[in-house]
Amino acid sequence: MGGTFDPVHNGHLVAASEAQYLLDLDEVIFVPTGRPWQKADRDVSSPEHRYLMTVIATAANPRFTVSRVDIDRPGPTYTIDTLRDLHAQLPDDDLYFITGVDALGDILGWRDAEELFALAHFVGCTRPGHELDDDVLKRVPAERVTVLEIPALAISSTDVRRRTAAGKQAWYLVPDGIVQYLTKHHLYQATPPTAPPQG
Ligand code: ATP
Ligand code: MG
Repeated sequence: MGGTFDPVHNGHLVAASEAQYLLDLDEVIFVPTGRPWQKADRDVSSPEHRYLMTVIATAANPRFTVSRVDIDRPGPTYTIDTLRDLHAQLPDDDLYFITGVDALGDILGWRDAEELFALAHFVGCTRPGHELDDDVLKRVPAERVTVLEIPALAISSTDVRRRTAAGKQAWYLVPDGIVQYLTKHHLYQATPPTAPPQG
């Protein structure tokens, strides 16, 4: 499951868990983006903060792991590179790329769309407030795309950032450890964020 995860929230975790359950996947690998080229217009938190928050949020689930492939690759993140790297690491596994339907709608605009479908099956999770354009489904190989109806959670990282910037805490929208991490590192607040712990 790729994402900016700035921060990771319960909408991501429920979508990932439902995809794992409904498709009987062995494991869900969360892949925080390096520098997302679609979000070049806003300041995205440092990759290490986003990586650590994703680790904190997924640590208790034995089927969830986090990959550094995108944050360790220099330059902007393209999904084709993510899939090539994961395929190289897991050559015998079938890859499923899990996204929300909003992101799936952009797939055709992504770099090397044909190779994307050769490398992975795409899973679009329903998301409140976002409709999948029927045209998109007509233009993609039907056998390589699955749309999953998942329990609706109208949570977004944008909303979590806004609330935090307004001095509120995002209890229950994000795992407790993420509320605490945002406070500890002053993320999205007027005070500049502190540096992430170094490994
Ligand atoms: P932002 O508001 O900063 O764009 P976001 O909440 O959309 O953040 P992303 O990191 O952009 O989170 O999303 C990563 C992936 O998770 C995307 O494919 C997105 O569609 C999906 N996703 C995010 N929130 C939900 C949700 N509430 N339900 C289903 N899918 C979601
Ligand atoms: Mg988004």
